Amino acid sequence: MKQQTLRSSCSFSGVGLHGGRKVTMQLLPAPDDYGIVFQRTDLGDEVFVRAVVDRVAKTRRSTGLVENGIAVRTPEHLLAALRCLGVDNVLIRLDAAEVPILDGSALPYVEGLREAGLAEQRAERRYRVVKRHAEYADPRSGARITVDPCSELIVDVTVDFKSPMVGVQKAVYDATVDFASQIAPSRTFCFYREIALLRLFGLIKGGSLDNALVIDDRRRRYAGGRQPLFENEPARHKLLDLLGDFALAGLPVQGRITAYKPGHRVNTQALKHFIAESIL
Ligand SMILES: [Zn+2]
Repeated sequence: MKQQTLRSSCSFSGVGLHGGRKVTMQLLPAPDDYGIVFQRTDLGDEVFVRAVVDRVAKTRRSTGLVENGIAVRTPEHLLAALRCLGVDNVLIRLDAAEVPILDGSALPYVEGLREAGLAEQRAERRYRVVKRHAEYADPRSGARITVDPCSELIVDVTVDFKSPMVGVQKAVYDATVDFASQIAPSRTFCFYREIALLRLFGLIKGGSLDNALVIDDRRRRYAGGRQPLFENEPARHKLLDLLGDFALAGLPVQGRITAYKPGHRVNTQALKHFIAESIL
C-alpha cells in the first residue's frame, strides 16, 4: 500500500473547546514521508509542531502538543479522522493554538477530508507493528492499555464510569467497522456535575450543548434534551480519542490494542512507553 496525501486543500473554522478562541485551520497536501505536521501561522512562517507522541506535554481533558514552546491543543479528533481515512502526509495550518471542536465529533473532519479527496503517493506506507504482548497501567486511575501482535488494527475499549447513565460500556474498531458512520459521529461528553470544576481549571471555555453531550446523572437525563446517537456513545468517543492519540505513533499502528478506562494521559504515556521499549 502506498502513502497518501490530500488531493486538494480543505479548511475548517470554529472555536477551540478549552481555550474558546476562534480558529481557522487549513489542511494542505504534503510530500512523501512528511507525516502529520501543524504550522502555527499566527506566530510566523516557520513555526511547526509535529504530531508525534514525544511532543505531548499536557493531557488534561485533551491532548496538548508542544514543540520549542509552541502549543497545539486538542488535535485528537482530527488525528483520528486523518489516520482512519488513510492520510499519511498533511500540513495543517492553524491561526491559533487549538484545533476547532466543531460539533464535538470527528464527522465534520471526515466529510471535509472526503470532499478534498485522497491522492496516492510514490513511497510505500510504513507501519508501527506491535512486536509482542505488553501492558501499561496507570495505578492512579486503574486504567490499562494492552497491545498484542495482529495482522490488522483492532481496538477494543471498555469504559467504567461511576455513573448510572454510563457505567460499563464497550466499543470495538476493526476492519469490519465503518469509521465514518460508526465511530466518527460520537461526540465529546462530560458529566454535568464536573462542569463547575472544569470551568474553575480554565477548561471548556468553548464548550456548549452544540459540541458536547452533557450527562446529568442526578436528573437521569442529557442536558438540553439532547439524546445519544448510540447507546454506547461515550465508549465510542473514548475509542475515537484513543485512535487520535495513537496516531501520534507517527505511523499507522498495526496490532491489537485493548484499553480499559482509556484517557489522554494513559493513552499517550502507554504509547511513549511502547515506543521507548521497542514494543511497537
Ligand atoms: Zn474527544
